[in-house]
Amino acid sequence: MSDGVRELLLSRIRDVADYPKPGVMFKDITPLLADPEAFSALTDTLAALCVRHGATKVVGLEARGFILAAPAAVRAGLGFIPVRKAGKLPGATLSQSYELEYGTAEMEVHAEDVSDADRVLVIDDVLATGGTAEASLQLVRRAGAQVAGVAVLLELGFLGGRARLEPALKDAPLEAL
Ligand code: AMP
Repeated sequence: MSDGVRELLLSRIRDVADYPKPGVMFKDITPLLADPEAFSALTDTLAALCVRHGATKVVGLEARGFILAAPAAVRAGLGFIPVRKAGKLPGATLSQSYELEYGTAEMEVHAEDVSDADRVLVIDDVLATGGTAEASLQLVRRAGAQVAGVAVLLELGFLGGRARLEPALKDAPLEAL
């Protein structure tokens, strides 16, 4: 990605202090989504990563990951698979729980959507503690698929998500744009 595109994308991400709770700096991507030039450049970049890493399917993480992953999948000519919070998918699912700061959460995927013939790129907007992405990688691996990598728009490095993801990534790349 060129420096110009990186600057364009960064300029369209809004910092919202103390949202959704005090002490959190929320990275709001809605200005980027509303700008067709920026959204298209991001879609091109993510689609190029799908091709570079040999993905056969694209996983998007609920909810903002859906918005980024679906157009990238279409542009790369690949299928899109939603990984959702527990209880939202109607068919037979695989589920994976993970630790939050307080308590646990659970992500699910339709079992029939991923097979051992697939090589999956996982896409989300923000990597924070890494728990959501880690659970999704575990789901993909449990379904027998290979992991092509994880791609996020932003990595909040001070939260240590990259280190948490490492065991689930194995040697697959984490691309933070
Ligand atoms: P985590 O599991 O801690 O890596 O959190 C990642 C998920 O939470 C992603 O799906 C993000 O959309 C969301 N998220 C976490 N922190 C932020 C933040 N500061 N700004 C925007 N989204 C965030």
